[in-house]
Amino acid sequence: MTIAIYPGSFDPPTNGHLDIIGRASRIFSKVIVSVLENQSKTPLFTVEERVLMLRRIAVPYSNVEVDSFHGLLVDYARQKNASVLVKGLRGMGDFEYEQQMALVNRKLEPQVETLFLMTNNNYSYLSSSIVKEIAAYGGDISGLVPMEVRDLLLQKIRVDGEKRQF
Ligand code: ADP
Repeated sequence: MTIAIYPGSFDPPTNGHLDIIGRASRIFSKVIVSVLENQSKTPLFTVEERVLMLRRIAVPYSNVEVDSFHGLLVDYARQKNASVLVKGLRGMGDFEYEQQMALVNRKLEPQVETLFLMTNNNYSYLSSSIVKEIAAYGGDISGLVPMEVRDLLLQKIRVDGEKRQF
């Protein structure tokens, strides 16, 4: 039984994230999608809101669990008995950052492997920040995020006031 962790900010989850979740769920016995509680970023959605959104969109995948964590990812992986970290790769920007992270994580915990899934072509340009920016300026975000996320994002942006900087 191989347990994999798919970590990220997911602020909010996009169709690119969902694509990785679906593909990882076909490869591993269990996938734990985990929201990183990152003190250094100011997110639009709270950790609880992000966990809730991920739980809703992950309903079709019975072997996917949603959780949150803080601290070192390898410590969290050990705690969850996970041997694989799943990361999505969109392009060279992701690669440079993720290569460093993978090497650091291997140094910290050689028993945990980082596995990269290449983005689906349709979502290679997609990031949470671009989605927030489009939504803040009234652009159409359908097709970029799951329906449930779209509704919550539009609601949040209305409450938050217009044209917030992301
Ligand atoms: P972002 O804010 O850039 O979307 P996250 O921290 O939420 O970043 O991303 C979590 C993980 O999902 C990372 O491994 C990231 O590379 C991956 N990811 C994000 N967007 C996509 C996408 N469109 N296609 C494939 N992987 C993605």
